[in-house]
Amino acid sequence: MKKHNFYAGPSILSQYTINNTAEAIRNFAGTGLSILEVSHRSKEFTAVIDEAQQLVKELLEIPEGYQVLFLGGGASMQFCMVPFNLLNKKAAYIDTGTWASNAIKEAKLFGEVDVVASSADKNYTYIPKNYTVPADADYFHFTTNNTIYGTETRHDPDLNVPLVADMSSDIFSRPVDVSKYDVIYAGAQKNLAPSGVTIVIVKESALGHVERPIPTMLDYRTHVKKGSMFNTPPVLPIYSALQTLKYYKELGGIRAMERLDLAKAELLYEAIDSSKMFAGTVNPEDRSIMNVCFVMKPEYAELEKEFLELATSKGIVGIKGHRSVGGFRASLYNALPIESVKVLVDAMNEFEKKH
Ligand code: PMP
Repeated sequence: MKKHNFYAGPSILSQYTINNTAEAIRNFAGTGLSILEVSHRSKEFTAVIDEAQQLVKELLEIPEGYQVLFLGGGASMQFCMVPFNLLNKKAAYIDTGTWASNAIKEAKLFGEVDVVASSADKNYTYIPKNYTVPADADYFHFTTNNTIYGTETRHDPDLNVPLVADMSSDIFSRPVDVSKYDVIYAGAQKNLAPSGVTIVIVKESALGHVERPIPTMLDYRTHVKKGSMFNTPPVLPIYSALQTLKYYKELGGIRAMERLDLAKAELLYEAIDSSKMFAGTVNPEDRSIMNVCFVMKPEYAELEKEFLELATSKGIVGIKGHRSVGGFRASLYNALPIESVKVLVDAMNEFEKKH
């Protein structure tokens, strides 16, 4: 049976990415070797990482003065690398969920952290709006898409300090004004590649201004200088990332991805909003188009398991909500076809008719 993959991450990848990766596992770039067994310094792999960097720059229209890095350690490693490299005295953070608060925890190891706002009071169901970022902060850190709670900031705030963003779960789903940022980072395992690599876009002029010594591996300058080849990079995920980037370009780039993503989210949110049984969990204006969180209304709460069973029987995978929210979470990453969203909406309608 055809599966409809709504996992939050690792998550669905395009068939183009999967087929080309499978082929490279058998025979990489005509070398007669598997991508799993070639040197990262071979000319064939160097060409891969160079092209991947180039395509990230092209797709996100990254201005001069920025470097694109492919690092290990996951997005979680960036929670400490960012303050290690950028926090001199004080940084501003906004607490919009689990990943944001993990980032805050690490930053506190390096200096003063001003948490300018938090939505913890309502289980992170909204994005705080009225807050002031101190003008003397080294940077303002925010999580563009809160994967667990299903809220998203789909614009680049205008502030008087440089931005730093965790875009792990919505990178490549909208155009970004990179010039406002000192650092953008994103774990690959949602809109890009299998887990194991993290994209870091860093403004070179933002580096070298902290006084503390930085361990070599955690110093962005090391990786900038060595083109992400200071140590052995995650070769296979980078190969897969290149395939996804090529696929995005072929489909018309980021604006084309955004149109598809918006259409998918609209379809599902409309079904939720017109339903007598299901309800969205977050403030409508802060809804994520990547992770759609919804629950059964209290009077139908006992039917949750039955709906999951129906969904499973239709080939729907991965819609059980995160334990901090409950209910359901449908992740609609770039590679998910709109047909899968239609299958989910049909299952919801069928379930409603039955009850
Ligand atoms: N930030 C966000 C927004 C996430 O969704 C996640 C989970 N994938 C992380 C950070 C942590 O990522 P990793 O597991 O790659 O460290």
